[in-house]
Amino acid sequence: MRFYADKKKNLDKLFEKVESRYFSDNPIRLAKIMYCFWEGDQKQADGRLKIGEARILSLRERDLYGYDFLISVDADIWKGLSLTDKIRLAVHELNHCIVVAAIVKEEWIPKEDSEGRIKIKLKKHDVNVNVFRYEIETCGLYDGERKTLTNTLEWDRQALVRDKASKKKKKQ
Ligand SMILES: [Zn+2]
Repeated sequence: MRFYADKKKNLDKLFEKVESRYFSDNPIRLAKIMYCFWEGDQKQADGRLKIGEARILSLRERDLYGYDFLISVDADIWKGLSLTDKIRLAVHELNHCIVVAAIVKEEWIPKEDSEGRIKIKLKKHDVNVNVFRYEIETCGLYDGERKTLTNTLEWDRQALVRDKASKKKKKQ
């Protein structure tokens, strides 16, 4: 396993673009994020290959280097991803990163710890569908899952509509 920064900064640029486009009204904008690639396979807890990872740097690292989060990406897998999938992965990993903040006079003000660092957290996945089709067909979904999936399907539908509309525009 080897970690390295993208010297050409393409990785950083893509994540920063995604951040400014999809997280413009999110206090994550107050955090400093470091990006890097890794080489070599990393497995998730369930044995599947890991593509990306978001973690909080240690207090010492945060103080010394000025970064709060580290987002790392599998270099080989990244190379093979389409732009859409890269954007999706960036949205995914950025979603894990939370800055605890409150809106004061229409502005995000971060909560701070006793030493003046912004308060940050990692968010766990909020859509987990590890179920069998037969299970859903016979018993339906749990309430929380139904709500989340209904919203998710609606977003998906809207995204498809937007996608179609922008393709039409390009053709004209
Ligand atoms: Zn994740």
